[in-house]
Amino acid sequence: MNLIADIRADGFGGIPHNAITAKLEDLIGWARSRSSWPASFGLACCAIEMMATGAAHYDISRFGMEVFRASPRQADIMIVAGRVSQKMAPVLRQVYDQMMEPKWVISMGVCASSGGMFNNYAIVQGVDQVVPVDVYAPGCPPTPETLIHAIETLHQKIEDGELLKRRAASGAGANLHVTESPAGAQPMSVVLGPR
Ligand code: SF4
Repeated sequence: MNLIADIRADGFGGIPHNAITAKLEDLIGWARSRSSWPASFGLACCAIEMMATGAAHYDISRFGMEVFRASPRQADIMIVAGRVSQKMAPVLRQVYDQMMEPKWVISMGVCASSGGMFNNYAIVQGVDQVVPVDVYAPGCPPTPETLIHAIETLHQKIEDGELLKRRAASGAGANLHVTESPAGAQPMSVVLGPR
């Protein structure tokens, strides 16, 4: 009975840790990492590379991500692709708040991560001021290879369950930085099949 009450109160995170439920946690982490759906949310030129990542050549459906959702209530990954204007920041936050829990954020490109070349009052100087960022993808724009590297890094952390523990402890994002992959490079962290 207590187990059911814990799950009702805290979701799967409320399940106490023991030898049996550890395996259930592994299964949930595995399923979550392979069925994450991104919100359709492109802000500027980086969004073109994000769209290319979803198209046939790069094909992120290989990672269970082919469905970019128009409704935030059906999405659990926000890819902030492009500069965030001060005017857009509250809208971005509202979309984030409407997304399903547990949810994650990738900051794509230097503009989203730090304001980039737009060092002025109109642009938010880092989207981490608005939402907790889990993975930063560098570049202007990041290549699809770099974005896939960021996505795969995030998937590995989702599978580990590490992000949820960190979020519960501090409310902050994982703040991971991946390295930039040039166009046409062999993606560094893309592993198909069992990891
Ligand atoms: S990082 Fe470069 S490509 Fe991306 S939004 Fe900024 S200027 Fe555009």
